[in-house]
Amino acid sequence: LGPDLDEARKCLAQVFGFPGFRGVQDQVVARALAGRSTLAVMPTGAGKSLTYQLPAVMLEGTCVVVSPLIALMHDQLRSATANGIRAAALTSVDTDREVTIDRFRAGELDLLYVAPERASQPHFRELLSKAPLSLFAIDEAHCVSEWGHDFRPDYRLMRPLMDAFPQVPRLALTATADRHTRADILEQLGIPADGLIVAGFDRPNIQYRIAPRDNPQRQILRFIADNPGPGVVYAPTRAQVEKLAEQLGAQLGAEGRRVLPYHAGLPAHVRAANQEAFVSSEDMVIVATVAFGMGIDKPDVRFVAHAGLPKSIEGYYQETGRAGRDGDPSVALMLWGADDFARARQRLAEVDETRRQGERTRLDALAGLVETTACRRAVLLRHFGENPPATCGNCDNCLEPPALTDATELARKLLSA
Ligand code: ADP
Ligand code: MG
Repeated sequence: LGPDLDEARKCLAQVFGFPGFRGVQDQVVARALAGRSTLAVMPTGAGKSLTYQLPAVMLEGTCVVVSPLIALMHDQLRSATANGIRAAALTSVDTDREVTIDRFRAGELDLLYVAPERASQPHFRELLSKAPLSLFAIDEAHCVSEWGHDFRPDYRLMRPLMDAFPQVPRLALTATADRHTRADILEQLGIPADGLIVAGFDRPNIQYRIAPRDNPQRQILRFIADNPGPGVVYAPTRAQVEKLAEQLGAQLGAEGRRVLPYHAGLPAHVRAANQEAFVSSEDMVIVATVAFGMGIDKPDVRFVAHAGLPKSIEGYYQETGRAGRDGDPSVALMLWGADDFARARQRLAEVDETRRQGERTRLDALAGLVETTACRRAVLLRHFGENPPATCGNCDNCLEPPALTDATELARKLLSA
């Protein structure tokens, strides 16, 4: 019957130094301790890692964590090790793989991080049979679903791996899954439907603003001037990131405010340095592709701007969710153009049939968010299956209700794209 929640609270204080659980963390932890499988849908920053790290410390055996990115694994490793948790990762860049395997076999690991591509190999399954396991944690579990926004085929191979260890409970974690994706994740990972736990998605301290793009450089400059703290400007392509970083840097640099670019095309050391500069800054602006942000723990990001249409509502929610983790007022601005929708529709025609329906549904949902003259937050939260009040008082449409003529004009623009 596993150790109970009182013990979990003691461990939370002693090992992690936290005074209490947040949101639904305790429910998720209790299920893992009781050996029951769970899909936890919790917003970015809600503290998903803790829900498997804590049981991993308390339970006998090793918790196997499947994670999609080496950078994410290493962030987690650093913080776990700093808390005195026995953790290691098996990746192509970790050169001490033999040591890790020995530690695992000797039962000396609480956490073993691995990517799905490695976890699906026969010798990994064999390795897992050599020592007791406490839990399977599947992080970023939306990657298992084609309905999700980040499908990763190797996630599909986690079910047969876990099925080989039927006595080990499963904990799938994601920040971004609509109803459809949730059902698919449960199915793909073999988690019973009553194992679904969904945390509230509302981020009341984030003000949502969405506007048509006319002069993005000027619009974003004004936005940044209104928001003095550190912030992220997302641009759709590397080229746009470079250009915008240069333009904004020329203007803001004169006022002593740093602007740095971030995208996957930059050398690793430049990316690391720019990220580091941002994390420790109190007023820096980072211009980035969506490659930026995963696993970055900066609580005082005051604004997030999108210079172009995000890929999906899930992406928009996740990216804007990097603002205001400290709970202080923060603003999210999205600039969109009819050409964004035209391009997205063109891409629709190019993807293969199996994915087209999902992509179209995603695009329609985004159009709904952009077009609405009603509360943006209500549209967002309904998308995630919640039943919010009709107005929030903290989005552009609630603060400055649009005139009907503007709305008609907007719809006309969208439809003619
Ligand atoms: P997620 O994966 O859900 O985006 P993380 O697991 O990265 O979130 O946690 C976000 C932050 O919240 C981390 O800095 C973590 O240390 C902190 N955190 C987690 N649980 C608690 C808690 N119970 N009390 C205080 N801080 C917490
Ligand atoms: Mg996480």
